Amino acid sequence: MIALNKHASGRHFLQIPGPSPVPDRILRAISLPTIDHRGPEFGALGLKVITGLQQVFQTRHPVVIYPASGTGAWEAALVNIASPGDAVLMFETGHFASLWHKMALRLGLEPEFLALPGTDAATGLPRSWRHGANAGMIEQRLREDKAQRIKAVCVVHNETSTGVTSDIAAVRRAIDAAGHPALLLVDTISGLASADYRHDEWGVDVTISGSQKGLMLPPGISFNAVSPKALAAARSATLTKAFWAWDDIIEMNRTGYWPYTPNTNLLYGLSEALDMLLEQGLPAVFARHQRWAKGVRAAVKAWGLEIQCADDKLYSPVLTGIVTPQGVDADALRKTIHDRFDLSLGAGLGKVKGRMFRIGHLGDCNDVTLMAALAGVEMGFGIAGVPLAGSGVQAAMVHFAAAAAD
Ligand code: PLP
Repeated sequence: MIALNKHASGRHFLQIPGPSPVPDRILRAISLPTIDHRGPEFGALGLKVITGLQQVFQTRHPVVIYPASGTGAWEAALVNIASPGDAVLMFETGHFASLWHKMALRLGLEPEFLALPGTDAATGLPRSWRHGANAGMIEQRLREDKAQRIKAVCVVHNETSTGVTSDIAAVRRAIDAAGHPALLLVDTISGLASADYRHDEWGVDVTISGSQKGLMLPPGISFNAVSPKALAAARSATLTKAFWAWDDIIEMNRTGYWPYTPNTNLLYGLSEALDMLLEQGLPAVFARHQRWAKGVRAAVKAWGLEIQCADDKLYSPVLTGIVTPQGVDADALRKTIHDRFDLSLGAGLGKVKGRMFRIGHLGDCNDVTLMAALAGVEMGFGIAGVPLAGSGVQAAMVHFAAAAAD
């Protein structure tokens, strides 16, 4: 049996970029008794969470909720809009974009994977894993597609494996500039409710998200926000879709119900999370994540280490990727920090495994939680004998103290 209560004292520091720490208020809401999902009370809950989600996705259109992890919502997006053999244009920004590409292959689509070529001289990492999706390359590829075979452009908004965001409005402009009818599908599984995201204004056709990041819920539910153009495409798309099909769900959602048994207790949690986010106001939520991200970057710069995101306009407000010096095994460092300080950090995934680690700054956090996490990292570097240029903890304290005085 796994010992889930092994922590000596205090709370475990869950500083991975999701699942994020869940506020007690949400855990309490989830613990309420499960009710009849066809009974009279349930419809009010269903309507409330759908309306609240529309505010968070910044859309007037349907938001479909699945009792599945984010991977399920990726699949839902593709099977609803595509037919067997359809071409889709995807952009390699990191591990999650790569997994989505692999899924498209498995579903019998013809995904084309654009990437920035080459490796970065300073770190030896793939350049495409240090930058966002390149709208110019997308536009050029769409212009070449004279037969307009490409059904959709698929981009990850907040690449959780690297800490780099992509400019979604620029990708929309690229599609429009090429005069191409492709749908725009965006994964903001780790961006929603932490980074500014505008489904309608940015002209996104399907937005995919999940519960366990900015929404501060446990893993287990995920979402598709769907534009009228995507709904129209779904009517003629012929990939097999049953459980994931939008039409039956959207029809029953009109009265707050689902065609299957929904995840009632996570919906209680979602209702509470939406209250918390909307009470605070989305601008304040985004500003708090930016403040945390700047504090963590101040620490990394003081340590004299490389931030994985090489474009300072695209820093993620949700997590920071830190490249370890050549020869320093990032996984061994993470293990030291975990075992000694009960602090979990995100691992380097896929092509950057062992070369970097990630600090999540989202969920039930505050400035002082992050100071503690940075102290754990700095002490871990010391134990591992990695020389640092200076104290990141000191630099972050200066940042947070100044930000609090604003
Ligand atoms: N896309 C992104 C950007 C993610 O961060 C994740 C998970 O962390 C996924 C997709 C896959 O979601 P899940 O693990 O919930 O299936």
